[in-house]
Amino acid sequence: MAIIEKEVSLPSQSPGASHRLLSYTFSGRPGSHARSVYIQAGLHADEHPGLLVIQHLLTRLQALDDADGILGRIVVRPFANPVGMGQRVFGHLAGRFNLDNGENYNRFFPDITDALKDNLAEEPVAHNDVAEVKRRFARLMAPLTSPDTVGAGKHQLLSDAFEHDLVLDLHCDSDAALHLYSTTNQAERSLRLSRCLGIEAIFLEDDSSNAPFDEAYSNAWRVVQNAGVVDADKVGFSCTVELRGQADINDELATADAEGILRFLAEEGVIEGDLGAATHQAGEPQIYPLTGVAPIKATTSGIVIYKKALGEAVRKGEVVAEVAPLDQGINPPRERILSPVDGVMVVRHLIKLVRPGQRLALLAGKEPLPDRKGNLLGD
Ligand SMILES: [Zn+2]
Repeated sequence: MAIIEKEVSLPSQSPGASHRLLSYTFSGRPGSHARSVYIQAGLHADEHPGLLVIQHLLTRLQALDDADGILGRIVVRPFANPVGMGQRVFGHLAGRFNLDNGENYNRFFPDITDALKDNLAEEPVAHNDVAEVKRRFARLMAPLTSPDTVGAGKHQLLSDAFEHDLVLDLHCDSDAALHLYSTTNQAERSLRLSRCLGIEAIFLEDDSSNAPFDEAYSNAWRVVQNAGVVDADKVGFSCTVELRGQADINDELATADAEGILRFLAEEGVIEGDLGAATHQAGEPQIYPLTGVAPIKATTSGIVIYKKALGEAVRKGEVVAEVAPLDQGINPPRERILSPVDGVMVVRHLIKLVRPGQRLALLAGKEPLPDRKGNLLGD
């Protein structure tokens, strides 16, 4: 089948400037009723492991396409944030926040949920008519376009995602073990994807606040599910895959991650072919409520020294890190950072000079923490 390369021009940010979003569409086998997939990377433009994974994935998909092994439609977007990728400040790439307004690039995606509730009440959809559900999404998204470059880009990303049954948004954290964010009604599929990729920590929540990309998608599907329009197995799936840390980029990891994604697509019936068993040695993935995931913050400035490795088990009250002050004489006492949970170290900070209030780590525990409310993702 033909592979369709598409470019979408975004509204110009300033005279003479242009930004484009690219995508590659693998049409799938005609007449197939297989699920369709949308995959993107680099929405946070300073997170680059996914960008290389997608390069490997595209090569493998092209070979699969040549062998007529693609059943469902697959759309791959090699970079989701061309504006962010150009944001260099004195040589440093600042790709997480929009320098124009300080907004996190993965927040405040268009929200169609209220309009969707009204729409479904006024004009019911036949049971399990997923194609009609997707048409409704498109219709409700259409008036929400933005004249702004970034806003138009976000609208394009979500509109494209809404055409598909499975949506993977590839990110990474500062210095991290593989982990995944999704919603509580998607536990089963999150486990399946995690086994394919070797992910050991799954964070689930229904509404972590401020509408990141994957939740803007899943929130709409939750409205559809709650209205009884579709059965659980027909509900669209979206997740944020955290491909380790910012520095974890090489061909070996990217090849393995691309194979993991393909293995998931094979299990979902999107592609054909024997991909073999996973080569990683990961344990069984564990589900943690996002309210049980503790961001640990420094209370002083200095150099952080971690006492626990990524993926290592921690006990409540155990020292997980120390902060050595630099301005309190010779051999001063260090700030000891204690774990508030029985769980596992999932995220650390790549740059070790830290300041008070800065997040030092994410520790995942199974029990919800009483003070974890509101904005669960932070910035
Ligand atoms: Zn990110």
